[in-house]
Amino acid sequence: MSKSRALVTGAAGFLGSHLCDALLGEGYSVVAVDNLLTGRQANLEHLRNDSRFEFRQLDINQPFDVGKVDYVFHFACPASPVDYMVHGILTLKVGSVGTFHALDIAHKYGAKYFISSTSECYGDPLEHPQKETYWGNVNPIGPRSVYDEAKRFGEALTMAYHRYHKVDTRIVRIFNTYGPRMQLNDGRVVPNFMKQALRGEDLTVYGDGSQTRSFCYVSDEIDGFIRLSKSDEHLPTNIGNPTEFTILECARRVLAVTGSKSSIRYEPLPQDDPKQRRPDITKAKTLLGWEPKIDLETGLKMSLEYFKKAAFEDQGTRK
Ligand code: UDP
Repeated sequence: MSKSRALVTGAAGFLGSHLCDALLGEGYSVVAVDNLLTGRQANLEHLRNDSRFEFRQLDINQPFDVGKVDYVFHFACPASPVDYMVHGILTLKVGSVGTFHALDIAHKYGAKYFISSTSECYGDPLEHPQKETYWGNVNPIGPRSVYDEAKRFGEALTMAYHRYHKVDTRIVRIFNTYGPRMQLNDGRVVPNFMKQALRGEDLTVYGDGSQTRSFCYVSDEIDGFIRLSKSDEHLPTNIGNPTEFTILECARRVLAVTGSKSSIRYEPLPQDDPKQRRPDITKAKTLLGWEPKIDLETGLKMSLEYFKKAAFEDQGTRK
């Protein structure tokens, strides 16, 4: 018998699927839901015969009920800039309507609740590194606003259910994360560079490549989620790797790890692309005893086998 039953929304996504693995490892039984807009059932294929795992293809923007659960992990949302710009209205919908539905389930069953939020809440940050207390610098009407404001609304709604309905909530602000199961064509920088390097194509650096990001390997990120889920902290907590790279340096690391002879090609910088991003993880360190263990070079090497396979298989086009 499992100790508890967890609902994971967005379970077929990159992080959602790794989270399902971790929750099963923690002794939960898992009911996994996804509408497969940007998630892939292949990410959950290995769990198909696990009696403690159940997958339901459904759209959480419609009211839904999966029966009593003890924990709701709300991860459903297009998450790469390419995906959320293609699916702008659906991104706003799942951040609002979908989040209401996920919170209603937690409220109905007295379940704990955990929402995946994002460093995009800080927008193009003027404070660096970003602490949880920073309110951010977000363009509320720009192309990224469909994601940024959806996530900020999701945080506001989560805090409201906590304050008004006493739902036991947690909010994680996720910084750039990479690893196996990322979709090769989701447009994010690590899968793009890995794919290009492995196929011998030019690496497309947007702008002059001086903008920065801080990359966390997926197992470190998931470890942070599990620790936060067990804590009593209701306010947002950054989980990400604080080692910062320019995008040009990231391209060079990918070339080194793949042994590729690809060149770098410069392309225009997308509008409102944050110039710098690095989490201040003092809170996670102090509160959860968490910090990442895997540096970028090691994580890229650990991901290499997956990306090699993915680079030469057809993962289909985005819907
Ligand atoms: N980027 C790039 N080339 C690519 C994909 C992304 O230079 O092929 C840049 C992008 O402009 C941004 C950074 O890499 O500055 C990270 O982009 P990503 O889409 O991974 O996520 P973001 O952190 O912007 O949400």
